Amino acid sequence: TEELLVKSEKLATVGELAVSIAHEIRNPLTTLKGFLQLLPGTPVEAHGQYVTIMLDELTRIEIILHELLLLARPQKTEYAPVDVAGVVRQAIALLEPQAVHQGVRVMTHLSPATPPVWGLPYRMEQALVNVFKNGIEAMPDGGRLAIRLWASGGHVWVSCTDEGVGMPKERISKLGEPVYSTKEKGTGLGLVVTYKIVEMHRGRIHVDSTPGRGTTVTIGFPAGPRPDGQPAPPSR
Ligand code: ADP
Ligand code: MG
Repeated sequence: TEELLVKSEKLATVGELAVSIAHEIRNPLTTLKGFLQLLPGTPVEAHGQYVTIMLDELTRIEIILHELLLLARPQKTEYAPVDVAGVVRQAIALLEPQAVHQGVRVMTHLSPATPPVWGLPYRMEQALVNVFKNGIEAMPDGGRLAIRLWASGGHVWVSCTDEGVGMPKERISKLGEPVYSTKEKGTGLGLVVTYKIVEMHRGRIHVDSTPGRGTTVTIGFPAGPRPDGQPAPPSR
């Protein structure tokens, strides 16, 4: 088992992020332009196939921009006490259709009474969705996804264990860097968003993976008031 603690300080600078994202958007744009240029000289029978590819590329741009906006949108500062179990259940519910579609069974082991966490529930949900989604995507032929919730050491922890493809150590060390993806239709932004959100909450993220066997991602949110002793930021 390879184990690495991944630090959230490794977040990209705005400049690095901009360059990578511009690059990610340029690829599908180039494809789109190429197909549009070909279209007039192509028999009508082939148009359906071209249009399908062009729509896929547009969808890809849409997904990239959606994830980018999550990072760039002015941060809502309404921190509030959050019941992490509720956030976990909501994240699972959002992914249910994809899990069913891929034959993934989601097993939950949620400790009944974890303390509230000072946080942004929608962001926390997004952070978890991105991790759970990767777990499902790591098992294209189905399997089990185990989601656990417990409290210890002043944190509320959520872990997500899949029985999927796993990752070598070198890849774990790249997680959270912008647009690193091994998936044909991946954006590589999911974990960038997750790391950013974990950092906003002064949380922890930990990845444990064995190639060919599976991966466990564990996220810890500090329980109770903000650990830096700051009061809640004023709401706008
Ligand atoms: P994306 O899912 O769009 O590729 P992410 O930022 O969510 O982008 O993930 C980046 C990469 O990290 C993935 O492409 C994959 O290679 C790797 N990865 C993340 N989670 C897992 C997992 N549970 N199992 C295997 N590989 C993973
Ligand atoms: Mg992902």
